Amino acid sequence: MTIDLADHQSCTGCGVCAYKCPKDAISLERDRAGFIYPRVDSTKCVQCGICNKYCHVNNLTKNSRLSACFGWHSNPRIREESSSGGLFTALAQTVLSEGGVVYGHVIDYSTLYTHCIRAENEEQLSPMRQSKYVESNITNVFDSINEDLSDRLVLFCGTPCQCAAIKKVYGDNKNLFLISFLCYGVGAPNFFRDHYRFVSKNKKIKEIRMRDKFFGWHDDTVRIKYFKNKDYLAHYSVDAYYYCYISLGLYKRDCCYSCQYTDNHLSDITIGDYWNIVKTSYYDDNKGVSLIIANSEKGKELLSLTEDVKLHSIDISEAEYAFFKCIDPNSETVQWKINGKKQFLDSCKKRGFEFTARKYMKNTSLRKIKVFIKFLLRKTKK
Ligand SMILES: Cc1cc2nc3c(=O)[nH]c(=O)nc-3n(C[C@H](O)[C@H](O)[C@H](O)COP(=O)(O)OP(=O)(O)OC[C@H]3O[C@@H](n4cnc5c(N)ncnc54)[C@H](O)[C@@H]3O)c2cc1C
Ligand code: SF4
Ligand code: SF4
Ligand code: SF4
Repeated sequence: MTIDLADHQSCTGCGVCAYKCPKDAISLERDRAGFIYPRVDSTKCVQCGICNKYCHVNNLTKNSRLSACFGWHSNPRIREESSSGGLFTALAQTVLSEGGVVYGHVIDYSTLYTHCIRAENEEQLSPMRQSKYVESNITNVFDSINEDLSDRLVLFCGTPCQCAAIKKVYGDNKNLFLISFLCYGVGAPNFFRDHYRFVSKNKKIKEIRMRDKFFGWHDDTVRIKYFKNKDYLAHYSVDAYYYCYISLGLYKRDCCYSCQYTDNHLSDITIGDYWNIVKTSYYDDNKGVSLIIANSEKGKELLSLTEDVKLHSIDISEAEYAFFKCIDPNSETVQWKINGKKQFLDSCKKRGFEFTARKYMKNTSLRKIKVFIKFLLRKTKK
């Protein structure tokens, strides 16, 4: 038996192989960009093949899409605090109200790494809201999910590959609800830390919001709240981390450049931004609208039980566009992107993230002028 774990280009860093190894032969380490990868200690490995068996990349399955709709949370505060229309919170509230628990992702402000945690009440959902455009570590929650599944409903929300990994571990458990989102890819944890530490200097961070709606839902804005100081507010186009991640796609995890899950979500429900609202007869108030796709009967049932949300059905074919929008539009070839990422990393090693990112960001002055005009327009509208 040979160990045939996913290779560097397809491994998603879920950590299931390490969790399942009976000999503790797999450790998880961060590479220089901060992405998590497994390392096998051949002196401990007994070639049992369990890690291969549980690696979701080696055991791909297919899912279907049953129905689609769009909507938003009817509580304006929750909608405002969420990235899109707040559907994550609405679904999580339903599971909590049935005595269940919710797993979602938060930033640890002492390390600035992102990881998965467990919520048992509505208050604990609050830091889970908002997209963190960076890799999140799920390796700490496997035991806890296992325990919860024995007698409670469990909702896990994460990337499509994380949902695939969780499904591989727990199978089609009737208590488990998997919610994935349309996914462009995750950014490098070490650059996220470098950049937001740099812009914050010595200020103590209370919260980082990457989808703040200061300019409205259509204009992603980063807001950092500090305990004592005035907020940092930057439109995505002038924030070095965000711009190089989303517009240039410079430091996504390697597997994201050729994602196997772009249009194959093994979750019960997929959520995302419903940008096509502008093409419907509904009024786009720029406050955030979610696209919701039920991928299983269980997902459909959860949606039907969900209150506090206004849902409008659409034909499933009208949702298809959204999956392909997630593919990096600048990606000519995967290898070309990965080589570009390597050059970026090499430069960061020599000159640091801030210097390197600014070298790649062209026309920053022009973008700053555009943001200033947006700011003036926002003031005159008020
Ligand atoms: C890395 C990333 C890429 C995305 N790419 C797209 C895209 O291309 N197109 C699109 O339409 N939508 C994309 N989204 C999803 C979108 O930004 C919203 O998160 C989604 O529509 C849910 O909105 P909401 O208002 O219900 O969620 P919110 O209340 O904002 O909740 C966000 C949910 O996402 C989870 N989450 C946040 N960050 C992470 C993370 N790093 N890893 C795992 N889970 C996380 C939280 O735990 C929470 O459950 C992306 C999100 C992320 C995190
Ligand atoms: S083959 Fe077995 S012992 Fe070796 S790393 Fe995989 S799970 Fe562990
Ligand atoms: S189980 Fe997860 S971490 Fe391990 S090799 Fe497969 S994708 Fe990578
Ligand atoms: S783009 Fe694909 S591989 Fe990357 S985080 Fe999203 S689902 Fe996972």
